[in-house]
Amino acid sequence: MVFEHREHPEFSWSQSRRSTFRSCPRQYYWQYYGSHNGWYDDADETARLAYRLKKLSSFYEFLGGAIHELAADAIKGARGDEPPLTADELFQVGRDKLNRAYAQSKRLKDWKRRPNRITMFHDFYYGTGPSRDMIDRIRDRLRTCTENLLESESYREALQAPFVEVKEVDRGPEFFTFEGYTVWAQPDLLYRTGDGEYHVVDWKTGQTDDTHPLQLRTYGLYVQSRADLEPHAIVGRLEYLLKGSGTTVPLGSSELDAEQREIRDSIAAMQKYVADPSTNAARPKDDFPLKDDTSECRYCKFYELCQDEIEGTVAGPF
Ligand code: SF4
Repeated sequence: MVFEHREHPEFSWSQSRRSTFRSCPRQYYWQYYGSHNGWYDDADETARLAYRLKKLSSFYEFLGGAIHELAADAIKGARGDEPPLTADELFQVGRDKLNRAYAQSKRLKDWKRRPNRITMFHDFYYGTGPSRDMIDRIRDRLRTCTENLLESESYREALQAPFVEVKEVDRGPEFFTFEGYTVWAQPDLLYRTGDGEYHVVDWKTGQTDDTHPLQLRTYGLYVQSRADLEPHAIVGRLEYLLKGSGTTVPLGSSELDAEQREIRDSIAAMQKYVADPSTNAARPKDDFPLKDDTSECRYCKFYELCQDEIEGTVAGPF
């Protein structure tokens, strides 16, 4: 999509949007409305701050992104002319990525100028950096995930498959249109086995979650929408790299129909927060309530923007 200046953001739907909307309406506001145009130097200071905070990363998020990149590189390399990377080699590349990001996170002034180019970890922005315990935990996770990646069913099958696409290597960010709305969806890995079945894969570097199968259903709709792919059965696969186990998710017509209903309902709920559907102008910020339970808010990237309000509301037994 070509960038064009817009006074209000374009409405589009994604799984992460749904998850943010469910988690906290105010976070949804900052992420999708309050930070809009905050990349301009002359934007209003709140929008600029919201845009910067939106770019903060947690160590777990960063690790997840790094492992997705490693998976993509490992599959593309092994299917090309290169010898397959070993778990040790992947681990070293992952450590380099983490170490570079860690060093960048100490450059607060540079990050404020270019928050989309430089990594800033939440722990540095809101504190003095990660504890030794956190660093050890992230490094151990990286090692476990890289080892399990190479052992996973999806990785092994993708090396042999007649057709493979890897996210953001073979194709940029992908979307399909659903009832006039843009829906962002692209599997981490898509491959077709010898019998013609499509496999859509999501690498997971954290714990299991009930919403993960829904994400694969959206990917199933995306595959189904692609005119360049021959129609064939689709199955989903969640690869839990921390546990070293995977789950197969059926993506037949009943699951995809159910997901269409879910997306329709989710869009309708989000649209209630829109003041003008023709421009997607949002209702005022205060119409997006804070999270009911604010006890974990200090871990949220937008805490700085909510702090005064949160501290003004003291929950208690009286
Ligand atoms: S700090 Fe709390 S209330 Fe504010 S956006 Fe984050 S989760 Fe929501």
